[in-house]
Amino acid sequence: MRQILVTGGGSGIGRAVAQDFAAKGDTVTIAGRRMQALEETNAGGKMRCLTVDVTDEGSVKTLFDRPYDVVVANAGTGHAMPLAQMPLDMWNDTLSVNLTGVFLTFRAALAEMPAGGRLIAMASIASLKGGANLAAYTAAKHGVLGLVRSLALEVAKSSITCNAVCPGFVDTPLAEGAVRNVMKRLEIDREEAEKRVVAGNPMRRMITCDEVVAAVRFLASKEASMINGHDLVVSGGEI
Ligand code: NAD
Repeated sequence: MRQILVTGGGSGIGRAVAQDFAAKGDTVTIAGRRMQALEETNAGGKMRCLTVDVTDEGSVKTLFDRPYDVVVANAGTGHAMPLAQMPLDMWNDTLSVNLTGVFLTFRAALAEMPAGGRLIAMASIASLKGGANLAAYTAAKHGVLGLVRSLALEVAKSSITCNAVCPGFVDTPLAEGAVRNVMKRLEIDREEAEKRVVAGNPMRRMITCDEVVAAVRFLASKEASMINGHDLVVSGGEI
C-alpha cells in the first residue's frame, strides 16, 4: 500500500485526486487550510486530514512525519488583475502559494522519499503560455514547470520522478472564481462569461476533475517510471 500526500485536498482537483487514490486502496494524507473542507473530502473516513499553510516552512514540515511514495503539490490560488493595477501583496501571495508552496513541499518530501517515489506538481497551461490579466499566476506556474524540469534531473539518480500536470480550465471553485470575475469585469451574464472562459479550449467546455485525475494517476503509476521532467497537458488541444 503506497503512502500518498495531496496538498489542497479540501476541494476541486485535489479532492478528486485524493479520493481516487483512496478508492484504489492507497493510504492518503490530505492537507489544506480548512479542516472542515478536508473532512468533506474524507467522507469515507479513511484519509488522514492535516491542516497546513503551504507557504509556511514550519507548517509544511509537520506533514512529513512519514515517507511518502507519491506527493501531489496541488495547493494553488489565482487572481486576475491587469498588471498595472496589481498590488504587491497580490503578486507576493500568488507566487508564495503557487511556487514557493511547491518548493517547500517537494523539498520536505525529498528528505525521506523512497526509490520509485513520485513528485507531481499541479501546474497549468499557464505554465506554457501567457494570459492577459494573469501575470502573477502565469509567472508562478511557469516557475513551477522550471522547478519540475530542474528537480527531475536532480532526483533521477534516486529513481524518483518529478513531473507536472498542466490543465486548462477545470470545473472547480477556482474556475468558478474566474467566471465570476469575467462576469463582473465585462458586465456580462454567466452563460456568456463561461463561453469566454472556455473559448481557448478547442473542445469548448470546461475540463472535469476526473480528466485531470487520470493524468495524475498515470504519472503515479508503475508504467510511468521513465517519464521524468514532463509537462502532461490536459487541455483539449488548447496547447
Ligand atoms: P481550488 O480552489 O478548488 O483548490 C485549491 C486548494 O488549494 C484549495 O483547497 C485551497 O484551500 C488550497 N490552498 C490555497 N492556498 C493554500 C495554502 N496557502 N496552504 C494550503 N492550501 C492552500 O482550485 P483547483 O482548481 O482545484 O486548483 C488546484 C490546483 O490546480 C491549483 O494549483 C491550480 O492552480 C491548478 N489549476 C487549476 C485549474 C482550474 O481551471 N481549476 C487549471 C489549471 C491548474
